[in-house]
Amino acid sequence: MLITELKPMETIASLAEGKKVFLLNCLGCKEVHFPEKEAAKLQEELAAKGNVTGVLTTDYICNPENMKLRLQSHAEEIKAADAVLVFSCGVGVQTIAAYLEDKKVYACCDTYPLPGFQGVTPLEYKCDQCGECYLNLTGGICPITACSKSLVNGQCGGSKNGMCEVDPEMECGWERIYRRLKQLGRLDALKCPTQVRNFATDDEVSN
Ligand code: SF4
Ligand code: SF4
Repeated sequence: MLITELKPMETIASLAEGKKVFLLNCLGCKEVHFPEKEAAKLQEELAAKGNVTGVLTTDYICNPENMKLRLQSHAEEIKAADAVLVFSCGVGVQTIAAYLEDKKVYACCDTYPLPGFQGVTPLEYKCDQCGECYLNLTGGICPITACSKSLVNGQCGGSKNGMCEVDPEMECGWERIYRRLKQLGRLDALKCPTQVRNFATDDEVSN
């Protein structure tokens, strides 16, 4: 199981600052926990500023096939937006970022683990529920699962011909992140000051 919590309000406000945004809510796991009321309030405030091009509230955005059709029905609203703000777990954000590969896609929630039944979230999806989602710094590719060493500060320097030194069958996650940020014109994200990862958040939720 997993739960999602909103990122700090000021973080989300800064993601939307000066931009047209499309909002995407996933209610698929809300019976476990999703900050529905807080997200709705925040989104009302964004809409009041006139910079929201559209809203899609649906469930299980982690299902790529379903999402293709749903996103297509909002294609014009998404096209009019500079960025898509996703209110979901890390799996959902990655699914949308992979589909909208020319669009900036930002995570508005952090994802935490909860012991117990894993529900319908397919295990092959790449979120380790790390409690401090980095997808906004990495172009929607998870550094925890896409890198063999779960590095959050960039490439280790051991890759050969784009492949990981730990697992030569696997593309280096940080080379993928670099290419994606370059495609989006967001290489400046790599200049962000190093953040100290707060592993305590995992324990607080699990215990
Ligand atoms: S950084 Fe990766 S593991 Fe952590 S919450 Fe985001 S998608 Fe999940
Ligand atoms: S080669 Fe790339 S994916 Fe492998 S451990 Fe180093 S940075 Fe991570």
